[in-house]
Order: sequence, then C-alpha cells, then structure tokens
Amino acid sequence: MTIIERTYMGVHCMGTTSLTRLIGHDPRIEMFKALRDSGHLPFFREMQSATAPTMSVEGRQMTMLGSNNYLGLSTHPAVVEGAARALREFGTATTGSRLMNGTIDLHLRIEAELAQWHGTEDAIVFTTGYQTNLGTIGALVPPGGPVVVDQYAHASIQDGCRLAGADLRRFRHNDMGSLRAALTELGSVVPVLVIIDGLYSMEGDFAPLTEVQELCDDFGAVLMVDEAHSVGLFGDRGTGVSEMAGLADRVPVRMGSLSKGLASTGGFVAGTRDLIDTIRGRARAFQFSTAGVPSTLGAALAAIQLARSDEGRALAAQSAENARFLRSELQARGVDVGSDPSVAGLSPSPIVPVYVGDDLRVIEAWRTLFDDGIYCNAAVHPAVPAGNALLRVCVMATHTAEQLEFAADAIAQSLDVTAAA
Ligand code: PMP
Repeated sequence: MTIIERTYMGVHCMGTTSLTRLIGHDPRIEMFKALRDSGHLPFFREMQSATAPTMSVEGRQMTMLGSNNYLGLSTHPAVVEGAARALREFGTATTGSRLMNGTIDLHLRIEAELAQWHGTEDAIVFTTGYQTNLGTIGALVPPGGPVVVDQYAHASIQDGCRLAGADLRRFRHNDMGSLRAALTELGSVVPVLVIIDGLYSMEGDFAPLTEVQELCDDFGAVLMVDEAHSVGLFGDRGTGVSEMAGLADRVPVRMGSLSKGLASTGGFVAGTRDLIDTIRGRARAFQFSTAGVPSTLGAALAAIQLARSDEGRALAAQSAENARFLRSELQARGVDVGSDPSVAGLSPSPIVPVYVGDDLRVIEAWRTLFDDGIYCNAAVHPAVPAGNALLRVCVMATHTAEQLEFAADAIAQSLDVTAAA
C-alpha cells in the first residue's frame, strides 16, 4: 500500500460542535486534509519567485510546467514596467467599483485596445475572468432563459448559468449530435445562448468551432466563446480560437481572460456597442465588485500591446513549437498524451494532457515529479471526470528544449513507462 493510500484509509471525521455539524462530513475535504498533512497535496504549494521556466518552489529550484503564463510575459520588462508605472501613478488600489469611482483611464485604454484588436465596436473589462462569465451570462439571460453549455465548459460558465437561474442544458463534450439534440428540444421561439470554451483548460483540446457556429446559425442561437486560454496565442492577430477558425466576425460574444497568456488578472468581453452597453448596465459582478488594482491594469495593457506586436506573435509561435516538441518527446517515451490537435489542422495546444486515469496514481506521479524538480498540475475528479485523471502539463514560450527533454524523461519515469525502442 502506498503512502497516499494509507493516508486515505486513515481518514476520519470527528467532532460534534455546531460548526462541524453545519459543515457536515465531506470525504473530499477529509482527503484533502490528509494529503496536506502527509505532504502529498498537489495544490496550494508555495511559490517563492516570479513565474518563469525555472523558479523557486518551497525552497527548491524547479522547472515550472504548470503555469498559464503561455507567452512568458509575466516577467517581460515591458509588462513589469507597465505595472510599476501604473502603481506609481495611481497608487495601490482603485477603491471603488467601475460604476462609482473605480474606472481609471487604464480601463478605458485597455477596452479601446481590446476592441481594436478584436475588430469589434467595444469591449468591457472586469476584475476577473470568473466574474466576467458570471456577469455576462446574468446580463444576457433572464431567469428561466435557455442556455446550452458544453459539459466541460469552465466552472465560471456553469456557475454563471446557475446564478442567473437559467434553464441550463448541457451537451456532451464537443459532441455536435448532442448539441443539435439540445437545440432541437428547445426550438427557436426564445433565443438560446450557447456557450463553449475555445480551448478546454484541462485536456487542452479545441472546440469544433465551425460546426458549433453552423448549428447556432441553423437554430438562430447566440454563440459565446470563452477564449481564456487562447487569447494571445491563436490566429494571425492572436485573438484566439474564433479567429483561428476564421469566425472572428461570426461569434457575437467573445470572452477572454487577462490572467493567463496576458500575464495579469482580469477578464473581458468584446462585441457590439449594444452588447457591451447591456453588460455594463446589467452585470452585477461588474457593478458590485471593486475594479482591478492599477498595477494589474498597467500590466494587462502592456501585455496586450506586446501580444499584438511582432514580438508577441513570435512568442506565440515559439509556444506552439515548444508544445509540439514536448508532445512528441512524451509520445516517443510511450506516454499517453491523447490525439494531437494539430492533426486537425490546428495549432498545437500549450496544454499537454498526460492521461493516467486513476486519481491516486496521478497524485503519486505528481509527487514523484515534484521531488524530481518538475512542477506540473494534477487534474483529478471533479476537475476532470472520475477515472480520467491526468497530469496537466503546460509549456511557455520561454522553455528551452533541454528543459522540455528533462521533463519528458521525468514524466515517463514517474509513470513507470518503458521508453519506446
Ligand atoms: N474561463 C476559463 C476557461 C478558465 O480556465 C478560467 C480560469 N481558470 C476562467 C474562465 C476564469 O478566469 P480568471 O482566472 O481570469 O478569473
């Protein structure tokens, strides 16, 4: 029996105070506490330096392969300077919601830059991407209004639908028959909002955007695409998967995050003036939360400008090249990384899933890699379906080939996979 299994077996829930009765018994929390106490918890680890290909984690130099800093911009001098300048100019906080006193000129400059980049009339910036989905869905869907969502769409989309009191229907992941069935059942009397992720954050797979868009057209449904993991990376201009699919002008609600490739925090929607005014006027997550701090806005503006520049496009190409390289190095060592998205004519995904299956095996592999100086993410249930646990490995444009080869060796060894001859 492994340490993790022993820990799991030893889990008990004790205590009878009012608070413990209120909290109730939750095996997931007990497991979490037991793993934390035995040092095997793959979450909440302490990072001690800026996010870079090599960074300090809990006192050791490690290769970071778990960050969404896909373009490596969080340490780029222009982005750091953008944050520092905003901090000097505006101080530490905005101290109010966008609605009241929290809108500073950086918000307006970012919104103008995003609209120009996306080729839309307008754009709106929220404090986080999570709030962006919550606020936007609530602004567009009345209680009882129909929304059709991919079953693996991000938690903020699922939560946004629940909070809005929407009539939420889920279709099977990337399954067009299942989407068609949901739309057929709803009919076309009331406008339906269909929401998908452009790039799915756990397995790193793309949505079949052309097919989804065609179905939305057939049924008169409105399509919203979450480009949180794809903005800055895909398409000639770098706005994401919608653009890569040639559908930038046909997706009416384009949501993105400033927190991943764009190396800051925040979220946005780009679209028509009507859409953005509606969100501005209705979204409670926009109106009732303090605006992002100036330094994050300064960083975001600099990162967007960089992502649009030749340098940014070259970083996106390098990130794609690194993803292709890591994927093929892992495959050469017999590691299951699933089917290659670039086979379908798509750019490689920066998220390379290493399929393991069992939650405990993933946690063991994660811990072995941690000891070997590799930091990646353990994706276990409920982040992924039960029995489909994986190591989520992400590349940055700034990784070297040596780092990726070293990681491929370590990952293969951690899974005890024999190298292909
Ligand atoms: N959408 C997707 C697909 C995400 O993965 C995330 C973050 N994990 C979000 C939205 C929320 O964005 P943020 O982190 O900026 O709040």
